[in-house]
Amino acid sequence: MPHYLDAVPFSGIIRIRDLMFSVKDPFRLDQGDVSFDAPESFKSALLRAVHENRTHYVQTTGIPRLRELIAEKMRTKNGIPIVSPDDVMIANGGIHALYVTSHALLEDGDEVIVPDPAWPPALGNILTARAVTVPCPLHEELQWRYDLDELESKITPRTRALYVNSPSNPTGGVLTRADLEGIARIAERHNLWVISDEAYEDVLFDGAEHVSIASFPGLYDRTIPVYTFSKTYAATGLRLGYFATSDPVLQDRMRKMLLYTTSNVSSLVQYGGVGALEGSQECTEVFRRELQARRDLFYAGVDDAAGGVFSGTPPKGAFYAFLRIDPSWRDPSATHESQSWAMTEYLITHGRIGSVPGLDFGKAGEGHVRFCFARERQELTGALDSMRAVFATGA
Ligand code: PMP
Repeated sequence: MPHYLDAVPFSGIIRIRDLMFSVKDPFRLDQGDVSFDAPESFKSALLRAVHENRTHYVQTTGIPRLRELIAEKMRTKNGIPIVSPDDVMIANGGIHALYVTSHALLEDGDEVIVPDPAWPPALGNILTARAVTVPCPLHEELQWRYDLDELESKITPRTRALYVNSPSNPTGGVLTRADLEGIARIAERHNLWVISDEAYEDVLFDGAEHVSIASFPGLYDRTIPVYTFSKTYAATGLRLGYFATSDPVLQDRMRKMLLYTTSNVSSLVQYGGVGALEGSQECTEVFRRELQARRDLFYAGVDDAAGGVFSGTPPKGAFYAFLRIDPSWRDPSATHESQSWAMTEYLITHGRIGSVPGLDFGKAGEGHVRFCFARERQELTGALDSMRAVFATGA
């Protein structure tokens, strides 16, 4: 008998990771991870917790000091009217926050409108809650933003929520304040929840502004903002994320989901998180500046290296180059019908360069590939040199 999880896809990114393991001296531009180290404030607080034997069970929703600090951060930095630290819950990374949120909010057959392209695990989490994802395109000619009339046209009587992600993985697009105000009005008109994935809130370029939709008057009542320490503090492996709601019914369900999936998130990591929030926030700006330099380095070289096969404008946020492949490009020996998969395999096979096919992020992503430019500069220049050799010889 088939089980509903049999129809929930795994991730193409993992398939590529496995392919990359068979490559000698690879350029890992497929991985969505920064090459920086977590700040001392995070690491020393985590180590202190080890030495102080803080190794026992803690509160299901997170340790009080961490929730207090996050409540303050969300109020001051994000402008969200957090009522009390009880609104805030700690998760095992942003992905777990999305899992808990999806399960607490959604029921069988509920529809959630999601961006296309989107980060696949966000959609996977919605599907594990037996809800349905309804894609709404992000348009490249609108700097990967929505046509808001089109977004509203996707709403049906089954629509329960909108999942929004700005800055966006994979496009790097940043929704403007006006976009978010438009989305807020749509959510109010149709009485919808908003799941607002703000994982890249601190990864912004060229003076772009991050706005949380939950900061608009009345919107926090229908929004679950989701954040992570992964990108802001270069701590992807430590697994620390959080979300908030003032809705008591949702809080109750979320507490259950946290209990039954983790009992509590690692006590040590939570103490580390306290250290990160109490310490200097300078690392975030250092990371941001370096990422902007890496973005510029990659975009300055990629057009020439690929002989014009790739095009795209540098993104205003996140750390991905989501590039359009020249529609006439073909690999005669490709085993894939999808052009983006063919390109990804071509670059791995001939250039040792990792990327993620646009199709993996949704239908609207086809014809594109995603490169992560959060790698060391040397790895980026190595990948560009290799790309130059591949496209020059037409390997
Ligand atoms: N949302 C988006 C859009 C992401 O790209 C990621 C990480 N790649 C996350 C959430 C969650 O990250 P984590 O689970 O490491 O906190």
